[in-house]
Amino acid sequence: MTTDIIMQVPWNCGDRSCPQKWHMGAYWIDGDEYTYDEFMDGDHETIEEKDIPSTEEYDAAWHEYFEHVAATGEDPLGEFMGIKDHKDVQVSYEVDLVITGDDVVATRVRRPKKAWTSEIPKVVVSYLGLDKDRRLDRNFLSMEPKASAREVLDSIIHLAEGDKMVTSVVVAKDRWSAKITLRLTDKAPNPWATKQRMAFAKKTLKRLKKGR
Ligand SMILES: [Zn+2]
Repeated sequence: MTTDIIMQVPWNCGDRSCPQKWHMGAYWIDGDEYTYDEFMDGDHETIEEKDIPSTEEYDAAWHEYFEHVAATGEDPLGEFMGIKDHKDVQVSYEVDLVITGDDVVATRVRRPKKAWTSEIPKVVVSYLGLDKDRRLDRNFLSMEPKASAREVLDSIIHLAEGDKMVTSVVVAKDRWSAKITLRLTDKAPNPWATKQRMAFAKKTLKRLKKGR
């Protein structure tokens, strides 16, 4: 008795609301039975031998898939996994913290020179524990909820001073503001990812045509 995958065939679900559009189906042989796993999620249905795609149908399905990648740069089945949409980079962010009323607020984040975002990056938000109004979250800092803004600021300065990822902490003379420089790992987008995938898909199409 053998259980073996015979072939993997991409198919387009045609569902406009499906973000993936393309799915991978797998044909299996299990002893003298054939099965089809439509989404490759382990949910096999029994089929007959005649339901297994011919070589031409198999080629046509892959051809269509690579045409989709070549036209859109989208690769939902991950055929070009080597092309990453993002890469990890080390970047520095200068953050100005100011006490306003009862809160410590990040008023400004100076972006790194090779900045790709106008918002405060998520990595900074989560490091400092900022809420949507850029206020420091007191719970995040394990402070008493009634801690004064001054205590919250002192706490973040204290944490930052002992942290390898924070390269400098400057407390302003008036003691109501601070500037800290965070050195953090962030994800930079690869602006060429889409074009690279399109180019690779075109190459693959050429190769497939030659092989016919
Ligand atoms: Zn779908």
